[in-house]
Amino acid sequence: MVDALYIHVPFCHAKCLYCDFDSRACRDRAAYETYAASMIACLGRLGSTSALASCRTAYIGGGTPSVLGERLVALASSVCMMVPALEEFTCEANPESFTGRLARALAGAGVTRISLGVQSFDDAELRALGRLHTADKARAAIAAALDAGLAVSCDLMCGIPLQTEESWVATLDAAVGTGVGHVSIYPLTIEEGTPLARKLDAGELAEPDPDFQAWCMEEARRRLIAAGMYPYEVASYARPGKECAHNIAYWTGKSYLGLGRSAASMLDRETYDALRTGLGAPEVAGATARIRFVQTTDALPGEAEVPRYEVEELSVREAAAEDLMLGMRMSQGVGEGLLAHAREAIGIDAVDAAIDEALTRGLAVWEELDGARHLAPTHDGWLLGNELYGLFWDLAA
Ligand code: SF4
Repeated sequence: MVDALYIHVPFCHAKCLYCDFDSRACRDRAAYETYAASMIACLGRLGSTSALASCRTAYIGGGTPSVLGERLVALASSVCMMVPALEEFTCEANPESFTGRLARALAGAGVTRISLGVQSFDDAELRALGRLHTADKARAAIAAALDAGLAVSCDLMCGIPLQTEESWVATLDAAVGTGVGHVSIYPLTIEEGTPLARKLDAGELAEPDPDFQAWCMEEARRRLIAAGMYPYEVASYARPGKECAHNIAYWTGKSYLGLGRSAASMLDRETYDALRTGLGAPEVAGATARIRFVQTTDALPGEAEVPRYEVEELSVREAAAEDLMLGMRMSQGVGEGLLAHAREAIGIDAVDAAIDEALTRGLAVWEELDGARHLAPTHDGWLLGNELYGLFWDLAA
């Protein structure tokens, strides 16, 4: 059963200075047309096999899907046609290529949610990142999406060159002031091979300060909670009911299928075996419980040239450890059902020792949620996430 569908759009109008994602600077309408048409054809082939019949969420990401304009609307319509049980449908967009007209057309096509790459409401910081939009353009894009009846999420970044405590607070307040229901916060990282990394090497830029970024994350938590957005995941804040169901599927061990070069998929063994031939993916060994694979070439499933994938096979034990680790990203943590499954797959002593260590180190705590006991991250567990996740991921070995 595929629970979530991801489609990758590999185009942006220009590359941001920090970006190492699989996207290329492209303004060629013919390339957009060809890409959208081949993705629509691919969806048609998959839809006719009922592979997407049980899918509940879809997400078109990138890159910058909104550069496709009307072709994005056609792609969204095709997703809705091929995924009959869709409950949430998100498109990523950047403010400079998102208009009121596009917002209305996407809403009409069945899109329910827009995730906008805002990053900052400070024009100097946006320029330092090589972003193409301004703060005013971001406000206009958010207003256009809300006017069209779409739920809106706004990505913000901390540790940007030129950013100060005051400008971060102003960015948070500006985001809250727009009325968005969801905010995601990311620390800037300088990735090898990017223009910012070259500036760093040349001594023209300082590394983002981890203490400043930690302060920014804390300040975001304080201000967003005060504004009615609760942290349901380590980097995600939402008003009640505005959580991203698609991302929650990633963190709760649901099967997801990614289409497009560099798109990641994770399928349980049964679903993988059922879809493998249609996807052009390789056979896997007998003991594999879960398969994660990333498309490494441009060709889409069903095209003459068979797509290639980087495949990672997970045993029952590794899958259980991964579920615990990802579950601890969520504020509600992991419930007794998942813990019982992990004890069965990994061993009672090992799982309980990891839980005890998380409790002793103050990284996790038992909480009651709807009458059931959950192991949930504490504030320290949220701050020291890698230590907490490492405790559970180590159970895979
Ligand atoms: S818009 Fe996103 S994907 Fe495109 S270059 Fe910028 S960071 Fe990368």
